[in-house]
Amino acid sequence: MRPIQMVDTKTQYHKIKEEVDKAVLEVMESTAFINGKAVQEFTANLNSYLGAGYTIPCANGTDALQIAMMALGLQPGDEVITPSFTYIATTEVIALLRLTPVFVDVDPQTYCIDPSAIEKAIGPKTRAIVPVHLYGHPAEMERIMNIAIKHGLYVIEDNAQAIGSDYHFSTGQRKKTGTIGHIGATSFYPSKNLGAFGDGGAIFTNDEALAAKMKMIANHGQSRQYYHDIVGCNSRLDSIQAAILDIKLKHLDEYISARKEAADHYDNAFANHPGIVTPYRADFGSHVFHQYTIQVDPSKRDGLKEYLSTKQIPSMIYYPVPGHKQKMFEQFGVESAELPVTDALTQRVISLPIHTELDSEQLKYISREVLAFLNN
Ligand SMILES: *Cc1c(COP(=O)(O)O)cnc(C)c1O
Repeated sequence: MRPIQMVDTKTQYHKIKEEVDKAVLEVMESTAFINGKAVQEFTANLNSYLGAGYTIPCANGTDALQIAMMALGLQPGDEVITPSFTYIATTEVIALLRLTPVFVDVDPQTYCIDPSAIEKAIGPKTRAIVPVHLYGHPAEMERIMNIAIKHGLYVIEDNAQAIGSDYHFSTGQRKKTGTIGHIGATSFYPSKNLGAFGDGGAIFTNDEALAAKMKMIANHGQSRQYYHDIVGCNSRLDSIQAAILDIKLKHLDEYISARKEAADHYDNAFANHPGIVTPYRADFGSHVFHQYTIQVDPSKRDGLKEYLSTKQIPSMIYYPVPGHKQKMFEQFGVESAELPVTDALTQRVISLPIHTELDSEQLKYISREVLAFLNN
């Protein structure tokens, strides 16, 4: 059996090596390293794949979130409602911009922000909501958008883990996650579902003025060369990464299918097991399985991780410490916030290997060992 990894980017690369190597060499030969043709082509192709209005490439997913929040003109002290159960980048940029993160609980099934918790957290200083499509499962965007419209709030979707996921509205309309809120942000970190061979990110919006502003912010607030109208930053997707991403974008649907097949295998293997909660799949959207995360009894979780590692099976805890308990946010006095679902999940979740290159022998072995430990 081939060794098992959390993410197997090498095997994936080898399947498209010829095409990727050629594209990278072409960029090198062109020397158009910054904002070259490859960046423009990938941006246009991603924009049409997602059905976004405007796509702005940038240096990474954290910058994408930061630029989004800068463009909305949020002022120090403005409150931004966000889940505590997410990767730190989502909430870190809120504090970095001197905004106040308001941590709310997640839904026990989707693990994404709980819309009713959002409503309860809205106050006079609330300006924005940042839902995260965690592990590749969409947050309940229709309810979230209705709440936002009712209260005049902005919505920034953190789509770093869910690129390619479809959201189904009750009207029958479908949209890709990341294109539903006022702004969507994503990451091309190598292990993400659409991963570069280094860092990268992008921002999406349907609003022309916001798009123009975000483009300026990502480029030193520049309207034309050497005329800087607003304070911005330097955040670029480089041409080599764009060339690679453009090739991988053509395979994205196939990659998502491969992840779903692996998830189906695990689901079948763990079906009806009293000690395992398998990932929920809502009918309002598609799960693209950035992670395959199960819940087990807290008394078994760390033992399971340890046991799997003795069997050469890696696993990860995403995330052991929720945002409201991070030292970084002590200044906001949030550590005593009551977020029972978040607190329980941090004790119960464990993510198993999932990627595009798992074969059935590996999947059988992993599920057999998970069951062997839990049935013991
Ligand atoms: C990866 C990730 C980010 C940040 O992306 P980078 O490209 O690493 O800066 C933000 N939010 C979530 C939920 C992520 O998973």
